[in-house]
Amino acid sequence: MQAKQEALDLQLRANEVLEARVYERTRALEEVRHGLEAANAELMRLSTTDSLTQLANRRRFDRLLDEEIRRARRAGSPLSVLLADIDHFKRVNDSYGHPFGDECLRQVAAVLAAHCQRAGDVAARYGGEEFVVLLPGLDAEQAVALAESIRCTIAHLQLQHGEQPVALTISLGVATLTPSLAAPADLLAAADAALYQAKNAGRDQVALAAEVNAGEQTPTLNA
Ligand code: GH3
Ligand code: MG
Ligand code: MG
Repeated sequence: MQAKQEALDLQLRANEVLEARVYERTRALEEVRHGLEAANAELMRLSTTDSLTQLANRRRFDRLLDEEIRRARRAGSPLSVLLADIDHFKRVNDSYGHPFGDECLRQVAAVLAAHCQRAGDVAARYGGEEFVVLLPGLDAEQAVALAESIRCTIAHLQLQHGEQPVALTISLGVATLTPSLAAPADLLAAADAALYQAKNAGRDQVALAAEVNAGEQTPTLNA
């Protein structure tokens, strides 16, 4: 009888030890899983963020543009993009050095980010000294007004290299979704053509894509 009780006690203790071990292992695994999830989220953030400016990178922008175009077509709502390029940026680098050029890129990025106030607005670094802003819900007129505000804010930034004030300007091209500018590549090409126009017209200005300018903008985008 006593031997039986001892065997039972032994078994109970063994079970308790086992349970404690399982608990410990489960907790350790949970910790590892949390760590992996956090690392994964950080990797995801890094792979979609421009490290210099902390804006979205081109990869993220391209994905969002695709999504927003589809959404705008479904809802029949407007959508605009701005393409912005710093004027004579090579001169800035040549005159004040690359680190100062980098600081200018961060300042421009901050102005763009500050103008992205509504859900869905996204500013991204498209490459080099070129930026792009995605504006779901904005028609051509509203997008031009926002572009003008961005242009004006940057022209009034009081940048300094040491004691020396440095003027910085950007040119912007605006394009709005229309039935014939409904593919991401076409929309961006139209914004790029408008940007080229703004550069040719003297820089530090906003130009609207020719097709939108010609009054072809229609709200019937569901075709
Ligand atoms: P434009 O008004 O016609 O746009 O003239 P631009 O001088 O701005 O144009 P260009 O394309 O000739 O020069 C772009 C410059 O941008 C050249 C390149 O060194 C500079 N750039 C691109 N990426 C970076 C960067 O990450 N940091 C810095 N500091 N400069 C960069
Ligand atoms: Mg450029
Ligand atoms: Mg430039």
